[in-house]
Amino acid sequence: MDKFEYAKEVARKLQKSHPEPKTELVHSDEYQLAVAVMLSAQTTDKKVNQVTPELFKKYPDWESLANADIGEVGKLINQVNFYKGKAERLVKAGQVVVAEFGGKLPKNIEELTKIPGIARKSANVITQELWGIAEGIVVDTHVSRVSNRLGLTKETDPKKIERDLMKIIPKNYWRNFSGSAVLHGRYVCIARKPKCQDCVLNDICPSAFK
Ligand code: SF4
Repeated sequence: MDKFEYAKEVARKLQKSHPEPKTELVHSDEYQLAVAVMLSAQTTDKKVNQVTPELFKKYPDWESLANADIGEVGKLINQVNFYKGKAERLVKAGQVVVAEFGGKLPKNIEELTKIPGIARKSANVITQELWGIAEGIVVDTHVSRVSNRLGLTKETDPKKIERDLMKIIPKNYWRNFSGSAVLHGRYVCIARKPKCQDCVLNDICPSAFK
């Protein structure tokens, strides 16, 4: 198998084990997903899901967030890491979405990343989850680790990892790979001791059982 066939086989097997991966961030509309994704940096989805119900009750849309007091927002999210900076960026994001995008999220990575608090990884998650648009591949801590163990990249910088993955994984797998590799890293190829015996990739992974 050359590296392209190998990458495709990895993507195919992950897709088979996770046919329709979905984010574990609880949300009911695009506003809620974007806010949850912004909060999830350096924080578990579980922790984010604990704070968002109250946050969304008080600030149900971009307009109310745009007019919120940063300190009040901070109080509602103070269980997540870096909450002060996140509170400031959330309010600024609300202002930008209202002022520059008419209160609706733009559907492409270039414009999404103009919104405070939304970097490329978050933009990838948002376009894929909300509209099924995969302009790139989501690279978080799980995807980084899984991709390295599988030998799909030697890089550690998420942007470089994404660039490597986009070169070898066929585009029609990008959407699924983004979600399935996150779940695979979270539950099977875990950081401390990967569960290679339970892994659908253990017959082809160069790191299996090491
Ligand atoms: S075989 Fe082991 S190291 Fe390789 S992807 Fe699976 S769990 Fe990770």
